[in-house]
Amino acid sequence: MANLDALRTNLEKHGFHTVYFPTAKEAADYLDGKLDARTIGMGGSVTIQQMGLMERLAAHNTFYSHWAGATHEQAAGAEVYLCSVNGLAETGELINIDGTGNRVASTIYGHKEVYFVVGMNKVAPTYDQALWRARNIASPKNAQRLGVKTPCAAKGDKCYDCDSPQRICRALTVLWRKPNAIPYAEVVLVGEPLGL
Ligand code: SF4
Repeated sequence: MANLDALRTNLEKHGFHTVYFPTAKEAADYLDGKLDARTIGMGGSVTIQQMGLMERLAAHNTFYSHWAGATHEQAAGAEVYLCSVNGLAETGELINIDGTGNRVASTIYGHKEVYFVVGMNKVAPTYDQALWRARNIASPKNAQRLGVKTPCAAKGDKCYDCDSPQRICRALTVLWRKPNAIPYAEVVLVGEPLGL
């Protein structure tokens, strides 16, 4: 069980605002209430999809995601960006692995506000353990979801650091602190398992 107080203290120390909700429904209500008449971009996020937020936000915002027929460029140009992480360290580092690069690029640059929605299943005590989770749990599950031909997708047990042409792990980002060009970043913590 993650130490929520330590996690929030460390994230705040690193420049990220934090909020916590026990359930995904409460977190979805919060974001749906907070984000109105904005342009919002999203990369691929199983977390946001599971929360039903794509449809809710698209009803009263301009919502861009390639999962909803938009281009990566449209999502990259939005005021607000929504995503999750592949691993979150209690020591306050946010870790993401990407194949295309659109998602990790948007967590670093180009948006006025970035919201990271994170189920507590993605929290690990240390940076090394959060990185291990991103590589050995999130990425193989994403490879399986995408149906790529990689050893992790075939077995689903761990990362094989493969040389497959369809390797989905091509860029790793660690946010040690809130990037300077992102004026506002918030981590929305959810006390339920969400995403991969
Ligand atoms: S590097 Fe290859 S084996 Fe490892 S998780 Fe990524 S796609 Fe799977």
